Amino acid sequence: MMQLAGKTALITGAARGIGFAFAKAYAAEGARVAIADIDLARAQAAASEIKGAVAVKMDVSDQASIETAVTEAANTLGQIDILINNAAIFTAAPIAEITRADYQRVFDINVAGTLFTMQAVAAHMIERGIKGRIINMASQAGRRGEGLVAVYCASKAAVISLTQSAGLNLITHGINVNAIAPGVVDGEHWDGVDAFFAKYEGKAPGQKKKEVGEAVPFGRMGTAEDLTGMAVFLASDAAEYIVAQTYNVDGGNWMS
Ligand code: NAD
Repeated sequence: MMQLAGKTALITGAARGIGFAFAKAYAAEGARVAIADIDLARAQAAASEIKGAVAVKMDVSDQASIETAVTEAANTLGQIDILINNAAIFTAAPIAEITRADYQRVFDINVAGTLFTMQAVAAHMIERGIKGRIINMASQAGRRGEGLVAVYCASKAAVISLTQSAGLNLITHGINVNAIAPGVVDGEHWDGVDAFFAKYEGKAPGQKKKEVGEAVPFGRMGTAEDLTGMAVFLASDAAEYIVAQTYNVDGGNWMS
């Protein structure tokens, strides 16, 4: 039986990578999905590959864009039962080279984007009496620091903390908020990560990615598909009593 039959989901940053894999997995479990992304053309291309999916332009760092996108998704899908706050950006630099502009951009997208998209979708769920689900994308980077990755790590620690507080607050409205903390997941995101390490550690392109993949106890980097089981489970009826938790799906490790 399909676990998300009749449900609707808004997934941010779903034009590619992990969010796109979530969109495909949710559709396979019977949900209709809105693929929301700052890159509308790519979101439209992604939506065209999934039966019943729609593309929505959304910049999670912009309050007006959040509200417009949530309204558009709710109107197109009928309502929003599930939100996945997946959109995020990565940055890396030694402490001495972190700029306030970089810090602000990462926190505007990764932290404020998560908080205010939760707020907008929760308001919609409460207004309609929807016992909804919200899943935030954290990271092992939010569990402990990494020398060159202070800003991103701090942003993902904030996502874990927001998940705890929002989870405790919104369950009083019947809305479950939880998070997934992946380790290293292959994809275009990682190509950008690898470039930072090539720059700051002088590694050949691809070398850091190879090293972290080999350091994962499971024996390889994760794939986006490795995460879909947890994303489906947290949105399913079986997870009704799970509140304000962050689950590691990381093959046993974080970057060395
Ligand atoms: P990705 O970079 O491949 O995809 C991110 C998507 O977000 C892109 O489609 C991008 O256009 C979109 N986006 C960026 N800024 C946006 C904005 N302001 N508004 C809306 N959309 C925006 O990333 P991914 O690897 O698929 O990662 C997905 C999530 O998983 C992120 O939250 C990331 O931090 C987290 N994560 C990834 C890894 C990994 O190794 N890939 C590990 C741990 C956690």
